[in-house]
Order: sequence, then C-alpha cells, then structure tokens
Amino acid sequence: MSTLEIRTNVMKNKVLIIDDNLTNKAILEDILTSNGYETKFAQDGGEGLRIISDWNPSVILLDLIMPGMDGRKVCREIREMKLPSRPSIIIVSMQGDKDTIVSTLSDGADDFIVKPINEAELIARVKAQLRISDFYRQIGEDKRNLESILAITSAMSATLDPSEVLNTIVTKVAGVTDAVRCSIVLIVKDDEGYVLASHEDPSVKELKLDLSNYPEIRQVINTKSPLAVEDIMNNPIMSVVKDKVRGLGDMSLLIVPIVFNDEVLGTLFLRTKRREQGFSQKEVDFCRIVANSSFHALKNARLFEKVSREKDYLKEIAVKDQLTSLYNHNFFYSRLDEEFERAVRYETPLSLIMMDIDNFKNINDTYGHRIGDIVLKEIAAMIRRGVRKTDIVARYGGEEFAVVLPHTLLKGAVDEAERIRELIESHAYAGLVNNRITMSFGVASYPQKGAMNSGDLVNHADDALYKAKWSGKNCVKVAEG
Ligand code: GH3
Ligand code: MG
Ligand code: MG
Repeated sequence: MSTLEIRTNVMKNKVLIIDDNLTNKAILEDILTSNGYETKFAQDGGEGLRIISDWNPSVILLDLIMPGMDGRKVCREIREMKLPSRPSIIIVSMQGDKDTIVSTLSDGADDFIVKPINEAELIARVKAQLRISDFYRQIGEDKRNLESILAITSAMSATLDPSEVLNTIVTKVAGVTDAVRCSIVLIVKDDEGYVLASHEDPSVKELKLDLSNYPEIRQVINTKSPLAVEDIMNNPIMSVVKDKVRGLGDMSLLIVPIVFNDEVLGTLFLRTKRREQGFSQKEVDFCRIVANSSFHALKNARLFEKVSREKDYLKEIAVKDQLTSLYNHNFFYSRLDEEFERAVRYETPLSLIMMDIDNFKNINDTYGHRIGDIVLKEIAAMIRRGVRKTDIVARYGGEEFAVVLPHTLLKGAVDEAERIRELIESHAYAGLVNNRITMSFGVASYPQKGAMNSGDLVNHADDALYKAKWSGKNCVKVAEG
C-alpha cells in the first residue's frame, strides 16, 4: 500500500478585471470574490499588461471600449506575451453584435459576455475557461514530462558513463519539478547512503550520508513506496530531526525509491520551496517512471566504481615492486626516458644514483632469504626517507636500487647519495647479529661526460658504482667526465 498522500490543488484561481468603469469593476469583483476567486483590477490596458506579467492570472475579464489602448489591442498584446501559462480572455462588453463577437474572438479572445452581467452566466463561463486552461496546462506538463523521459532514455543509450546518466536524470527531474534540490542517493546500509548525483552541483560524486539523519529516506527504503513530506517542520515523520531541519525553512520533500524486483538500490530525493503546493500527482508519477528507469544506471554506477577501483589497483601493481613498494625496473626506465627528454628540451640538469648493497649474499647465506627480504624492505624505506619528494626511487634489480633526480646537478646528487649512505650505515637492522649494513653508490649527471641518452646515463652511473665497489665499498663515486 502506498503511503503517499498528495494534497489536491488548493491554489485560488486568479481573475484579472481590466475595465475603465469602476461600477463594472465593483459588480464583477463582488460576484467573483463571493464565488471564491482571487481578483485584481486594472483601470487601463497598460496597467493590465503589467499585472498579467507579474501575477499570471488564469482568466482575464476584458472591457472592449476603454480610453487609450482598447480591449482588442490589449487582447492582441496579451497573445504576444511570453507567459508561463496561457491565460483565458473573456471580453465583457455592451456591444453584443455578431461582427464584434467574431472580430474579438479572432483577435485572440476565448469567450464573450454581453452586459448586463448575469452572475450565473459569468461564473459558468469563467469555470468553462478554467477547465480549458487546466486541460492546456496538463497537456503542456505531459509534453514536458515525455520530452524529459525521452532525454533521459537517450542519455542512457548515448553514454556508458553511469555518472553522466545519473546527472542527466537529476537535471531533468529538477527542471520538470522546479525542485531546489534533486539528487540520487545510493543506499549501502541501513544507515549509510551516498549522494551519487546532485543537480545543484554536478561535481558531486560520492557524498556520504548518515541516514539516521534522514528518517524520510529510511521510511521509503522500508515501505518501497514514494513518500511526499509537506511542511517538514511539523510533519511527524521528521520529528526526530526537527532541530536539524529547522534552518531549511518552508519546504516539501518527495522521496521515490529506485526499486526493481523488490530490491531498493537507492532513492530519488527532491526538495521544493513551493509554499502553495507540494508535489502534484503528475510530478510523483513522472518521478516514479524516472526512478524505475534509473535502476540499471545506478546498478552500473556501483559496478563501474568497483571496476575503476580495481583498475587503479592493477595500474598501481603494474608499476610497483611487490616486496619494497618502490617503482619497478620498467617504470624506472620509462620515467628516466621522460625526464631525460625533458632535461634536453628545457636544458635543465638531471642526475641518477645507482646503488647496490655490499656483500648482501652473506646476509642471505647467514640469516636466510626471509630475513634478507626484511632487510631489503628496511633499506627501501631508508632510501625513501633520504630522497626529496620529486625524486623517483626504484628497485633496479635484486639488491640494487636507483634514484632519478630531476633538476639536480651532480653536486646535489652526490650530497643526496652521501645522505642515504649514512642513513643505511647507521641504521640498526632487526634480526641481524652484526646489524650493520653498507651500500655503494655511483652517481652520473646530464649534461656531463657526453651522455646522449638515458641509457648512457645508466651506464655512467653503473661504471661509477663499479668504481665504488673496487675502492672498498661503502662509498659514493661519480662518473668521470
Ligand atoms: P657486492 O658487495 O659485490 O654487491 O656483493 P653482493 O653479495 O651484494 O653481490 P652478489 O651480486 O654476489 O649477490 C647479490 C645477492 O642478492 C644474491 C641474491 O641472492 C640476493 N638477492 C637478490 N634479490 C633478492 C631478494 O629479492 N631477496 C633476497 N633475500 N635476496 C636477494
Ligand atoms: Mg651487492
Ligand atoms: Mg648486485
């Protein structure tokens, strides 16, 4: 059973009287107000046109003979105006001859009343016009709703990106319903939801909601039926969050479940500032259709997000070494190539440090491979600590590491290598009896020693590392040049 209750149209029908004669005005006004209509009055055509554009009446009672702009001219002017809805024009005149009636109707009037006024006739004709304009309004609404549903379905078939689909949905729904806020909330748990799309802010991707602050959403999840909440401050559903919604002022809410085969995946959430009326039955029906059709887009959004996260993870493991979490050999080369090209193009320096653990075979032989691995990890962390943010640290091979230093001259790179050497040497390694470890370093730079490409730079740094090993290890040597 639906818990939805939509208030029927309580708007008073607005009738504008345009007449230069105050006695006529008084008679018309009297009849209309005593029959429950809201009236305004204009004494000439100019004033009438101004009131129409501000007040948007449903029916206009228009005198024909007036000083200045006559009724027929006013009639034509009204039909030229761009108005939110088409008002009905009833000419009220003493001149009831066929020619006058025919010509005013062709000027855009909808009906004609011949004075003297008969109360029953006037009300019957006004009511007839209201029936017709209501019909017009409904057709206009249906057309707009169908166009929006069409736009949503074409967005669904035009893009594979679910967030684009969800954004189209909230934008269209907000446009049709005049909502100040329209969003799609994904329900994850009983008390946890995420705003996946919001029409006021297209950049919203994943805003977490604590659903204990949204009893109206929780009710919709439980009942799987739409819910309209008018007058949020005094509605019993909202009593637990009364203090929190106080600042929102006068507004109505509409929450429609996004449900398929009894599975509630999320909700369409709308807020309007309309005082006179909350959401109409037509708007609710429209939102239900849209909510139903957004089920799969929402499901895809969830899936899409999971896949993107997995893709990011795969991307990450493709460039990282698993043991040390430093960049791997392949990534080191592609980054070094990029940095070398940049250095050549912008004539900036570039340095490279190659380093190798001294006598690491002994560590494995003495303590086993597993302890060897732990030491490698500790060394990787130590190197990371010794470099700058912009440096690229990689595991070059088994117990060899490399650091690419963009915008760095040889001297700066040697200092950095020396800093790392000291860190490695002074660190106490867990699990080792003689817990001292040392490393040898080779440093090369561009432009230096005719390095023409990144491969030359690696060879030069390697030569320098070899020199360091030969001269007793635990030291930093630079490429000759
Ligand atoms: P040198 O001072 O000349 O560099 O001597 P070394 O013993 O460090 O050099 P050598 O190249 O002879 O041996 C390197 C050792 O590093 C041999 C290999 O078992 C070890 N090694 C390479 N990769 C790993 C690894 O992933 N884990 C462990 N535990 N050991 C590794
Ligand atoms: Mg070694
Ligand atoms: Mg080695």
